[in-house]
Amino acid sequence: MNRRRSAVSTESDTSKANTHFARALIEWHGRCGRHDLPWQRDRNCYRVWVSEIMLQQTQVSTVIAYYERFLQRFPDVQTLADAPLDAVLSLWAGLGYYARARNLHRAAIRIRDEHAGRFPREFAAVAALPGIGRSTAGAILALARGERWPILDGNVRRVLARHFGVEGDPGQRDTLARLWALSEACTPAQQTDVYTQAIMDLGATLCTRRNPACERCPLTLTCHARSTGRQHELPAPKRRPERPLRRVFMLAARRADGAVLLERRPERGIWGGLWCLPEFESAAGAQAYLGRVFGAAESAHPLEAIEHAFTHFDLVITPLLAHCSDYDGPPDPARLAWYPTGAPGALGLPAPIQRFLQRLASAPVQSQLFE
Ligand code: SF4
Repeated sequence: MNRRRSAVSTESDTSKANTHFARALIEWHGRCGRHDLPWQRDRNCYRVWVSEIMLQQTQVSTVIAYYERFLQRFPDVQTLADAPLDAVLSLWAGLGYYARARNLHRAAIRIRDEHAGRFPREFAAVAALPGIGRSTAGAILALARGERWPILDGNVRRVLARHFGVEGDPGQRDTLARLWALSEACTPAQQTDVYTQAIMDLGATLCTRRNPACERCPLTLTCHARSTGRQHELPAPKRRPERPLRRVFMLAARRADGAVLLERRPERGIWGGLWCLPEFESAAGAQAYLGRVFGAAESAHPLEAIEHAFTHFDLVITPLLAHCSDYDGPPDPARLAWYPTGAPGALGLPAPIQRFLQRLASAPVQSQLFE
């Protein structure tokens, strides 16, 4: 066999392979799958939806505690829609990718206002909600209602590309269309919920990006990548541009009582909608802001840099500490807040900034921090 050719070449081959594929996965899930995750209990669209959004970019083991706290505070779509965005973001703090939380909240408001508070029945209406695309809509309806919809998240792409020998970058339109067609063909009419959970679990636990556990995989006898030894070539890696490095300065303006001035970030962009230290392109910009807002404040002193990796770039923040003991009110209460580092409130903060403020809280107000 030509190693570069697809493993599945005729329609009848495809049909047989697909039947075996679904059966093997369903049988495997009965024996080895995860059955005790919090979102598998009392399944409904809302509970599955929240779990699917949290599980994007985040592992199951991390998600569980966040999910349970979130469901305790927002047990249904109405409670979530009625809550202020800050309450949602504060429970999301530490999970990252905050656009997910903002979209979840926006979608809940839309369900309350446009669907009478009930999760939509139509696939198209579900897929059109903020933060829910074709694959997530399919997963919600398959898992919560047992409807037959194909899915194609990152784990499923990997399993399909390896098993059926799909060449090409899954980010490219043709390859993606081929993978969607395979997903559609493989999704069974019966036990769709079990199959959907099974293929997602296989990608997350056995058919992992590095070191797939082929010897324990239920698809091992029919897998193209396994039989040709090409597990590490499939799916074809995305061509990634070099990661840019961004440097910024953030001002930690600290009052005598230890409170630090925070600014709500704009909705768009990194950490959108979260509360953060005011950001500047230069130390001079931060110093000028200090003069403008606090009058004759002390000079700002640089502290140990904070490094943080985003998906597409690395961020290096130089915090600048300034003591602003004479100032007693924020100049713009809608956008600025004094944050009591010793007794943090319910504001949503990016995790690296939260950690920085914890360190700041443990240092004496007039000390040269972290030196
Ligand atoms: S046999 Fe290996 S490469 Fe193929 S689907 Fe299973 S784990 Fe993935």
